Amino acid sequence: MPFADILGHARIVDVLQRSLRSGKTAHSYLFEGVPGSGRKKTALTLIQALFCSTQPDDACGICGSCRKVEGGNHPDIHLIAPLPDKRDISIEQLREMQHVLSLRPYEAPRKACIIDPAERMSVSAANSLLKTLEEPPGNALIILLTENAGMLLPTVRSRCQLIPFAPLSPEHILTLLERNGMAPETAALVAPMSGGSMQRAMELDNESLTLRRQAVLTSIGKMTIHQIATVFDASEQLSGNRDATLELLDMLLSFFRDAVHLGAGSGDIVNRSVRPAIESIAANRSFPGNLELLERIYETRRAVQRNANTKLALDNLFMTMAVSGR
Ligand SMILES: [Zn+2]
Repeated sequence: MPFADILGHARIVDVLQRSLRSGKTAHSYLFEGVPGSGRKKTALTLIQALFCSTQPDDACGICGSCRKVEGGNHPDIHLIAPLPDKRDISIEQLREMQHVLSLRPYEAPRKACIIDPAERMSVSAANSLLKTLEEPPGNALIILLTENAGMLLPTVRSRCQLIPFAPLSPEHILTLLERNGMAPETAALVAPMSGGSMQRAMELDNESLTLRRQAVLTSIGKMTIHQIATVFDASEQLSGNRDATLELLDMLLSFFRDAVHLGAGSGDIVNRSVRPAIESIAANRSFPGNLELLERIYETRRAVQRNANTKLALDNLFMTMAVSGR
């Protein structure tokens, strides 16, 4: 895929494309970031661009070479990972890799290799790699992927160009999930809880998320100032550790954003499958009341992020919710 399809890493893409244009790509790169932040895609795109037979600084996506990289069957790309029943990447695997890299490439201008996750190289394996990183045989390109560069030997780190990948923003995750065919409303729920990782976003269990959403909507529906107990019951039931509370607040943000949309006369909401519940939230207070509540949810979220007591934060928020309802 072309560099333009990589979301959220414009600066990194710029650096890589410049090095391609000037013919000065590094021998060895270390891509650091959470799994699912786009490290491997970027690594493969860099290799694809390097191999592309029509474009000097990007992957055309059409030529034979680009299609083979895309299809995962280019004979000059080598992926090194722990073997199925092993924890570590062994020294034997790296010796084999070094041998393969020293052979003439089949069709690409040079060979390329991705080691993932690099922190799983045994110490002896990592030591055996030092000379290769400095002077890869046959001018091969070596890309190490890691979650944390600090977990690698300093001698390995210092021989690679370090490229740190920030976690993806919820907006980028949302776009990518939709591109992958996830329903927009599921994507909108999952994106804020993904920690900037597509991998985590894809793993989040839709079913349990749906159940939780139902529980939250039921609780909100019951809250009224005439039954104060329902307010404290709800915060008791729904508050949890910080992550669970942030997840709940993200859900509330999504509901109230939709309610505000409805109040503003827009029929376009993300939580379409629970539309009646969203309509009753919208109808339960005035438009300015819902806007104000939306702001209060944001504030609560910020407070919880700054380590506020989750139960107290929710008590306050739910109280405001109950008082402002009709
Ligand atoms: Zn191409």
